[in-house]
Amino acid sequence: MSRLLFEAPELKTVPVKGEDGLYPVHRIFCVGRNYAAHAAEMGVEVDREAPFYFTKSARMLTPSGATIPYPPGTDNFHYEMELVLAIGSPVFKAGRDEALGAIYGYACGLDMTRRDLQLAERAKQRPWDLGKDVENSAVVAPITKAADFGSVGDQRIHLEVNGEVKQDAHLSDLIWKVGEIVSHLSGFYHLAPGDLIMTGTPAGVGPVVAGDRITGGIDGLDAIELTIGEPE
Ligand code: MN
Repeated sequence: MSRLLFEAPELKTVPVKGEDGLYPVHRIFCVGRNYAAHAAEMGVEVDREAPFYFTKSARMLTPSGATIPYPPGTDNFHYEMELVLAIGSPVFKAGRDEALGAIYGYACGLDMTRRDLQLAERAKQRPWDLGKDVENSAVVAPITKAADFGSVGDQRIHLEVNGEVKQDAHLSDLIWKVGEIVSHLSGFYHLAPGDLIMTGTPAGVGPVVAGDRITGGIDGLDAIELTIGEPE
């Protein structure tokens, strides 16, 4: 085997509740506008024809409890509290039931966003990468196995900044349900173990500044926490 010209990037992983082993992350897919009240606050209509997606590099994965620097290039860095799906078996062109069966577990996640850049890109009909594919921006708490969580129903999803509630909704508010998301996305990708899907955020998104502490939770899952540090 040929030698590598430089050291390969460190594999990104997420802990799993009740397991010694770690969940190795391959890809991170994100669903846009999956709560009606959030779409409304962003000034857009919900497209009920099909969900839409953007991606974050797996390199952007950050563990819950971390302190991340306030990122460069923005004056409006936002939190988005989300339910994260972890795929546990290969799934391709699957119906909803098969898709649901491919979900290994669930976790709390934060889709941290340079909102000013995302909106500028959106206005110019350009891709959202500078707004969304931000270093340290895919924060994921430990995964709870699907069998231990049960089914996605009306669990509360919430987020606080410095203890003040900013987002407060229920998973029953999801426009595209988790089985529908995995089924639809599997029509375009060979989804496989290691793929994470961030399912969208409820209303109440807003900015953070250096020194802020974000906490969030979903009933039945490990809570999530993030501290915003000074810019580098
Ligand atoms: Mn999001």
